[in-house]
Amino acid sequence: MAVVYLDNNATTRVDRQVVEAMLPFFTESFGNASSTHDYGAAVAPALKEARKQVQALLGAEFDHEVVFTSGGTESDTTAIFSAIETSSQRNEIVTSAVEHPAVLNVCQNLERAGRAKVHYIGVSPDGDLDLDAFGAALSDKTALVSIMWANNETGKIFPIVELAKLAKSAGALFHTDAVQAFGKVDMALKDMEVDLLSLSAHKIHGPKGVGALYARKGVKLSPLFRGGKQERGRRAGTENVPGIVGLGAAAERARQTLAEDQARVKSLRDKLESGLLAAVPLTRVNGGGANRLPNTCNIAFDYADGEAVLHKLDRAGVAASSGSACASGSMEPSHVLRALDIPPYALQGAIRFSLSRETTGEDIAKVLATLPEIVANVREKSPLWAEVRPPQVA
Ligand SMILES: *Cc1c(COP(=O)(O)O)cnc(C)c1O
Repeated sequence: MAVVYLDNNATTRVDRQVVEAMLPFFTESFGNASSTHDYGAAVAPALKEARKQVQALLGAEFDHEVVFTSGGTESDTTAIFSAIETSSQRNEIVTSAVEHPAVLNVCQNLERAGRAKVHYIGVSPDGDLDLDAFGAALSDKTALVSIMWANNETGKIFPIVELAKLAKSAGALFHTDAVQAFGKVDMALKDMEVDLLSLSAHKIHGPKGVGALYARKGVKLSPLFRGGKQERGRRAGTENVPGIVGLGAAAERARQTLAEDQARVKSLRDKLESGLLAAVPLTRVNGGGANRLPNTCNIAFDYADGEAVLHKLDRAGVAASSGSACASGSMEPSHVLRALDIPPYALQGAIRFSLSRETTGEDIAKVLATLPEIVANVREKSPLWAEVRPPQVA
């Protein structure tokens, strides 16, 4: 059982204060917010407060721009379908090749149904968006631009302010999947031209199964779920009150400690990264550079099988991830890593470490103390390694 948890881009531990904030809404305050009796009246203010807490972390102008959903996936789906539904004269989508499946699969679905034409913009070897291709793809047919704020595998941050501006001047809606950026980078939506934004509670020490879609005032939303009048008719279904309260509390905690967490987490990540680069020969950072989430390090050890390294790390008490979507044992490098310029002998050795505000210096020291030997052992099993290893590590 791993004791050092460095897979926070997959999910995070729910903060104890968040759990405390949620508990009363399972028991004494169990009411339905739509009920007119006291039980309903007791929960309405809690929903209002949570909306304000999310608004504050987004730096949004109005709290009613926040629509609660079941998570990042629902928010992405709603944003994309809604944009196509509400744009009568335009039917093209501009997105990137490195989006989360919650965006890519929805785009592909619309494409297959003949409802949209989709442009998938590539990235440079370092993971930066191809801005020339982006500009060329925009036209008076573009209904929606959907570009993630930060990539979940590499942490790479895209220039959302500029991209939103370009999208708006082409007359398109601009959506961003900000699930990884929310609570990790500063946001001031009231000064930006973002129309739609997706976020999720469980990536910021909140509960799973709850998130929000930010929809700028005046942006028409075509609901994915139709039914009751909840969320001003933009998302039907009885509100997940404990979850929403948890999202609000997690956002509030993140907002209070954001500046401090950014600096501390980044210094731990940099220590991990420079330590591994120094201790393990033929190691590379994927999609690195300064424009990155402070908590993410995607690193590849040439000629080392990443799955084997992860397995040994797990046995040594460290949980990380391949940063690749591996389908039941068959290790396929992810679409994100394949979009970067990584040689085949490095692709299989990619590992994603994602830290959180709970990560400690001891956690990083443990990885630095165990990983170099694990990589050396795994490399010994690679026939290629015997031919290429530098003499100094023979
Ligand atoms: C986790 C994640 C999602 C999905 O969010 P859920 O709340 O798990 O549905 C979407 N996009 C990105 C970038 C993510 O990291």
